[in-house]
Amino acid sequence: MAPIHNLTVLGTGVLGSQIAYQAAFHGFAVTAYDVDDDALSAARVRFDRLAAIYRSQVPGAADGKAEEALTRLRLTSDLGDAVADADLVIEAVPEVLGLKREVYRSLAALAPERTIFATNSSTLLPSDLKESTGRPDRFLALHYANNIWAQNIAEVMGTAETSPESFDAVVAFARESGLEPVEIRKEKAGYVLNSLLVPLLNAAAGLLLQGVADPQTIDKTWRIATGAPSGPFQIFDVVGLTTAYNISSNAPDAGSQAFARYLKENYIDHGKLGVASGEGFYRY
Ligand code: NAD
Repeated sequence: MAPIHNLTVLGTGVLGSQIAYQAAFHGFAVTAYDVDDDALSAARVRFDRLAAIYRSQVPGAADGKAEEALTRLRLTSDLGDAVADADLVIEAVPEVLGLKREVYRSLAALAPERTIFATNSSTLLPSDLKESTGRPDRFLALHYANNIWAQNIAEVMGTAETSPESFDAVVAFARESGLEPVEIRKEKAGYVLNSLLVPLLNAAAGLLLQGVADPQTIDKTWRIATGAPSGPFQIFDVVGLTTAYNISSNAPDAGSQAFARYLKENYIDHGKLGVASGEGFYRY
């Protein structure tokens, strides 16, 4: 399989913007797609913010490299144009099964035969989406962690139908774009990272809703007792409360539903979306 040169990222929100910028920073030609002009204007702001972050935090980014990355990023709201020459498409659209399936059906009709598709979904299995891609042998999950310039892990997870060539090409792409690839041997909801992280976040939400302790106390307990740099509510703020809401509201259990309502009424309806909006459980 030919190596990956041209990357297209679908969705330029919290993660999509980071994936696109990180790849551009490492020399890939990147096209970022989002639904309309408003979303693309928001993407430009995100990319400029990322350039500033890289300048101050990423070794070697200060001497013009962070700005150079911006020149390798092209934005469009035309899906056909976005994928016309893509070797790899990474999908980072909202965590809603029906929406993702619809995106893959449109994509399948427009992308070249050779193009590999990868989902950044945090909670869905690639098997949940593979039929909509029309190319299950060239489809897999490539899952990033938030703040990818620093927490640079990339979990690569195929289905039983993913070809070894596609898998290897995506592992190589991850490495060449500055990530540490983690090859997952068996399809597992939540990969390695979220299999560990989600139970922690759910437990924290339960402690809060049951009135056992407030977010600051829960976070402090976790930080001091384990030596971790952040507690669960600090992690919620980094992930973004909209994503936390989407995941909770799609889960069937009463606890998750109650947490989704809590997030909506106390935070999301007031524009408090976490670090990205300047306020969530904490102010930034
Ligand atoms: P987000 O809400 O910040 O961004 C989603 C983006 O998708 C928005 O820019 C939106 O305009 C765009 N979009 C909506 N409909 C679209 C469509 N039909 N086609 C293309 N773009 C569309 O969400 P996010 O937090 O970046 O999450 C995106 C994906 O990444 C989800 O699958 C999520 O599970 C996954 N993920 C998120 C994190 C995280 O920490 N936030 C970490 C790893 C993986």
